[in-house]
Amino acid sequence: MKNRTLGRTGLKVGEIGLGTEHVVPQPQHVLNDVISLAIEHGVNYIDFFYPQAQYRDSMGKALEGKRDRVVIAGHLGAVSLDGQYHRTRDPRLCEDAFHDLLKRLNTDCIDVMMLHYIDEMSDLQESLEGPFMELAQKLLRQGKARYLGMSTHEPAAGIAAVQTGMIDTVMFSINPAFDILGHIGSQGTEERAAKRSSELTRDDAARVYRGRKEFYSLCVRENIGITAMKPYAAGWLLSGKTLKKPFTPVQCLHFALTRPAAAAAVPGVRDVKELEEALQYVDADGDMKDCSALIRDHDWSLRGNCMYCSHCLPCPSQIDIAQTIRLIDAAGDDMTDQLRKEYASMTASASDCIQCGDCEQRCPFGVPVISRMEEGTLLFQDISCL
Ligand code: SF4
Ligand code: SF4
Repeated sequence: MKNRTLGRTGLKVGEIGLGTEHVVPQPQHVLNDVISLAIEHGVNYIDFFYPQAQYRDSMGKALEGKRDRVVIAGHLGAVSLDGQYHRTRDPRLCEDAFHDLLKRLNTDCIDVMMLHYIDEMSDLQESLEGPFMELAQKLLRQGKARYLGMSTHEPAAGIAAVQTGMIDTVMFSINPAFDILGHIGSQGTEERAAKRSSELTRDDAARVYRGRKEFYSLCVRENIGITAMKPYAAGWLLSGKTLKKPFTPVQCLHFALTRPAAAAAVPGVRDVKELEEALQYVDADGDMKDCSALIRDHDWSLRGNCMYCSHCLPCPSQIDIAQTIRLIDAAGDDMTDQLRKEYASMTASASDCIQCGDCEQRCPFGVPVISRMEEGTLLFQDISCL
C-alpha cells in the first residue's frame, strides 16, 4: 500500500482507508476481521462517526492492541440522544460525546477531530465562529485531538472553511457521479430542495464541476489533504441494477484518488470480501483503474438515490431511515423472507412516518424520504403474517 501525506497535518496515510458506517453494525467478529485484515494490508486511516454507545464499544474492542497502528478520524458534532444519531453544535452535548468516544475507544487522543457534516453556509458560520469551535480548540489545546478536520458534501462549504485557515483536512464525498455529472447541488440545501423533483441540466452539472474543481485547487494551494468518502456512491456505481455498465471498486477508488489533494479514499465496506475488493486497488494496473470510457458513455442518474448515510436523522417516529430504505431497495422486485424479518425486527417501520419532512430537509442527496416510506409501507404491508 502506498502512503500519501495528508496535507499540512504531515500524517502518512495509506491510499485506501476505511469508512466504518457499514461494518460497525455487523457482528463483532466481522468487524474484528475487517479491522485486522485492513491493518495487515497497510490501511491505517479509519473514519468513525457513530455516536451510539454500542457501536463505539464494538469499535473499541476491534481496535484493542492496534491503536498505535491507525490514524483515527473521530467526529465532533454527532451525538446520541435516546439511542438515535443527532447532529448538533451544542458544546455541552458535543463535549460529553467526545469524552465518551475517547473512553469507549480506550484512547487519550483522536488523531483527526472531524467537525461533523457541515454543508450549509449558515451552519458553517455558526460552527466556526461560535462555542462549537471554542470547544474544538479547547480539545486541541488539551491534547485530546491532534488535528482539526471537517466533513462536507458541499464544495462551497469546503472552500469557505479552508479559507479561514482553521481546518487542517477535509473529508469530502468524491465519485464520478458527483464530480462529473453534478448529481448533487453545489450551493446548499435550498437549491437542492428547489431542484428535488427535476433533473439537473447540463449547465448545472458544469457549474457543479467548476465548484468542485475550485475546491480541489484551493486545497492543493493551501496544502489541505482530502479524504474521499462515498467513492462508490453507497454502492450505486457498482450495481448492474442502476447502471448498464457498472464501475468496479478499483475504478471508483482510482477516480477518487486522482482528484487533486486527495490523500486517501475511505470506502465503506460491509465485510472482508468487500475489503478485499477495495484492496485490489493496491496491485491494479492502469487498465484496471481506467474508467474514462464509462464516464464518457454514462447513461445513469443517481439523483434521489439513498446513500444510507443517516444524515437525515433524528426522526420523531424513531424510524431508522437509512436501514428502512436499504431494505426497500434490496426488496425491489425480489422480496425475500429474510428482508421481511429484518424489516419486522426494526423498532419503527415506514408506516410510522408522520410526514413531518424534517428528514428531507436534512438529506444531502435529495432523497424523497416521505414517498420512500409510503413505498415501504406498501411493500412490507403483509409483514403482520410473519
Ligand atoms: S435519506 Fe438521505 S440522509 Fe437519509 S440515509 Fe438516505 S441519503 Fe442519507
Ligand atoms: S418525514 Fe417521516 S421519516 Fe422523515 S423524519 Fe418525519 S416521520 Fe421520520
